[in-house]
Amino acid sequence: MRRMAEPYRIKTVEPLAMTTREEREAAIAKAGYNTFLLPSKLCTIDLLTDSGTSAMSDRQWSAMMIGDEAYAGAVSFDNLQRAVEEVYGFPFVCPTHQGRGAEHLISRILIKPGMHVPGNMYFTTTRAHQEMAGATFHDVIIDEAHDAQAEHPFKGNVDIAKFEALIAEVGAENIAYINVALTVNMAGGQPVSMANIEAVREVCDRHNIIMWSDATRLAENAYFIQERESGYADMSCADIVKKQLSYFDGLTMSGKKDCLVNIGGFLAMRDESILVKARELVVIYEGMPTYGGLAGRDLEAMAVGLREAVDDHYLAHRIGQVRYLGEMLQEAGVPIVEPIGGHAVFIDAAKFLPHVPQEQFPAQALAAALFVESGVRSMERGIISAGRDAEGNHRRPKLELVRLTIPRRVYTDRHMEVVADAVIELYRTRESITGLRYVYEPPTLRFFTSRFEPLG
Ligand SMILES: *Cc1c(COP(=O)(O)O)cnc(C)c1O
Repeated sequence: MRRMAEPYRIKTVEPLAMTTREEREAAIAKAGYNTFLLPSKLCTIDLLTDSGTSAMSDRQWSAMMIGDEAYAGAVSFDNLQRAVEEVYGFPFVCPTHQGRGAEHLISRILIKPGMHVPGNMYFTTTRAHQEMAGATFHDVIIDEAHDAQAEHPFKGNVDIAKFEALIAEVGAENIAYINVALTVNMAGGQPVSMANIEAVREVCDRHNIIMWSDATRLAENAYFIQERESGYADMSCADIVKKQLSYFDGLTMSGKKDCLVNIGGFLAMRDESILVKARELVVIYEGMPTYGGLAGRDLEAMAVGLREAVDDHYLAHRIGQVRYLGEMLQEAGVPIVEPIGGHAVFIDAAKFLPHVPQEQFPAQALAAALFVESGVRSMERGIISAGRDAEGNHRRPKLELVRLTIPRRVYTDRHMEVVADAVIELYRTRESITGLRYVYEPPTLRFFTSRFEPLG
């Protein structure tokens, strides 16, 4: 196979922190063995998240210079609106400070207390806003999504039977809308097929249900359709993006992912009456309807970034880079979640450290050990992220994972090799990694601020 290089060249560079093992040992101890508490300046390769960590292009930086910072009627809003209409096909847009701002608005507009919202797996902020508006969330993703080893080309698909069963149970009139995420973050960046989107639309039409999208990684989803779904190999990702969105009534967007910006988000829709309500709310919570909590320059950067993100060459490298890292690990026998998704590689820490029981936090211990080994920062997605139940017991998720999340356009394939070497070296010496015990546990969202010490 011919090798593929990054489809961009580097114009500005940011030096990486080069540290010694002794410095990293001291830093992780000071951070209570929690990678969230590490200073970024000590993280040589920072794979904590792909959110807001993208590198912007020269065109985006140029567009920021012409940002119109007028309080009202700024031309930067028109530029964003034109980009959303041309690339996504929605005539109306309401900017927000980031994705959760848009989730807040749409939840308030469409949900009445007591209603139900089905979705293809939950996302933290999305579900929180639905529940705060008085709705009950229902997971209607296919069963394969909950199994780390299940092979399915579109593991993010909605289970149509589960969706119809919910309609039969609660009544279509009590379903505020269905929220379809493209791709599914919490399932590991797994895509949804065009056929599945069409099937959901058919059910929505039959029952008169609003079909909304959490479109956060919609360009990455389009790439998987082009690659895997029959009939789409010759269609551009830009056309697939437009086609997949053509079935939806509207979307919430976190610009921090597939709009290639460091901050920003929006709500887009076809129905002007929803826009009117969004504009009434946005002035209270975000800002004027033409800037929604963002600067004019942020709107300009987002308008350019959302066009760049649907480029076939960019996407082939983006998804290819994540896969390159995952396949190096697979070849060395490191257990990971399969198939490899769009934005991250997930290491199966339960299999990696079988000698560390779940209540000794194997994924947290592995993330800490990886930092000490290499300066690579990753994140725990396991028992600590899952928190405690109402009785105060640990929730015990089936998946105990370490997430290596790849920022967009930031690192080269060579960096991926360095990350793989470090993980593989740790796998070779895995028996020396011990579990952790709690030193400080906060009452909520404990993964952000928990502190630990090593056992033994
Ligand atoms: C990041 C994210 C959001 C929330 O967006 P923010 O910009 O972080 O507020 C919503 N849904 C999914 C799937 C996400 O990954």
